[in-house]
Amino acid sequence: MSDAYAALARYSRSTATLEALKALAAWDQETYMPEAAAAGRAEQMAEIAAVVHARRTSDQMRRLLEAAEADAQVQGDERLKASVREYRRDFDRATKLPTSLVQALAQKGSEAQQIWKKARRDKDFQMFRPALQEVVRLTREKARCYGAPAGGELYDALIDEYEPNARAAEIEAVFTPLAERLSRLLRTLSAGAHPDESPIDITIPADRQHRFGLFVIEKLGFAMDAGRLDTTTHPFCEGVAPGDTRLTTRYHDERFTDALYGTMHECGHGLYEQGVPKARHFGEPLGESVSLGIHESQSRLWENFVGRSLAFWKWALPHARELLGEALAPYGPEDLYRATNTARPSFVRVEADEATYNLHVMIRFEIERAMFSGDLEVQAIPEVWNQRYEQYLGLKVPDDSKGCLQDVHWSFGLIGYFPTYTLGNLYAAQFFEKAQEELGDLDSQIASGEFAPLLAWMREKIHAHGRRFTPAELCQRITAKPLSADPLMRHLEGKLLPIYGV
Ligand code: ZN
Repeated sequence: MSDAYAALARYSRSTATLEALKALAAWDQETYMPEAAAAGRAEQMAEIAAVVHARRTSDQMRRLLEAAEADAQVQGDERLKASVREYRRDFDRATKLPTSLVQALAQKGSEAQQIWKKARRDKDFQMFRPALQEVVRLTREKARCYGAPAGGELYDALIDEYEPNARAAEIEAVFTPLAERLSRLLRTLSAGAHPDESPIDITIPADRQHRFGLFVIEKLGFAMDAGRLDTTTHPFCEGVAPGDTRLTTRYHDERFTDALYGTMHECGHGLYEQGVPKARHFGEPLGESVSLGIHESQSRLWENFVGRSLAFWKWALPHARELLGEALAPYGPEDLYRATNTARPSFVRVEADEATYNLHVMIRFEIERAMFSGDLEVQAIPEVWNQRYEQYLGLKVPDDSKGCLQDVHWSFGLIGYFPTYTLGNLYAAQFFEKAQEELGDLDSQIASGEFAPLLAWMREKIHAHGRRFTPAELCQRITAKPLSADPLMRHLEGKLLPIYGV
């Protein structure tokens, strides 16, 4: 082992340990913290964030990084070399923005978020417009500080923060055929018979749903001695530290599958967090997840490709009857499978089904990109938004709260983030197709509750590498192909056309 690398790893492990305490405080804030603790907690988190940022950008960090880069042993070892490449990426990102800009973004972002809340309630984009213009201006400055990649565009610098090395032009090349084929699929399905949703339209108390959710995630392979499942308002997964991965979910008595799929989604994130070699490489890029898109591929895989399959319901239904109660007695696996695979255009992204979801994302991607290429003024967002919803989803948007004011992201400068949702769906489809090819009869494994082979495959192909490969490299290595719309379309057409009888 290289001494220079070991020193760098030791330093960043200490930084990551402080950051783990911040993650724990953030988890607590969203779950059990008493309301009156809010101000104190904000102060605590800001203090740790400042210490972490200072360590990440310190002269000591720079010297350790430069020493590792100059080390012959590091250069001769592919894994260490990749790790140091990622260290450099993180260091440059952390040091490229002037403190004044970071502060301005944080302050204007939190102000804009308050205004956004009011504007959404009053369905009034004009109320939000000046604040959004300011956030976009600051975000453009941020993108300029990072700089557009060679041959790329300014928007790429923002995407890169969430999906390393991804380019808007490459994303467009996959998204455009996907949008066309999805719109066509929706038109075809509209002539078919919408499945009966009564099997999931039943009332089940939250405590029973919780027991069932725990049962499912344990069977999927989530290690409960190294994690938890709690409730919150906006579900998330927090990979706090080695041996500590926190999942959250929420329950409504109606439509128990909302919580079930929410839990399976977060569990997919959690399985990834438990799968990266964190114990050995905590604080090193080798012990971290690759990107938001790859993270989302893991959550979507367990939620949609496993959880919404007929095989899953063949296995799960007897257990669901036992744990959720009599209300499910009249139904068979086929009924649940059909009820959980509907496709219907809707206005709101977070309520969208598996097929229409990506169209919501693409509209946001197009608008963000146009804003940063200078083709679209903030002022014109509602008009373009509504026109695209009509074009892609065949819907007339009634007001801005159901339109361009529905998401919180833009208010605090999260621009370039949306595409990762669809990238996740695309990666999930491409990985799952490959896993099916390599694991033999995956359907009968799922139908008999054997999830271990699929999880082991993901562990070996994706989790074990940490950030050694970029998302595109990972995709190429695993599937021998670049990312494409084909696997996702095969998956959606393959199940929805027969369900709708068209
Ligand atoms: Zn997710």
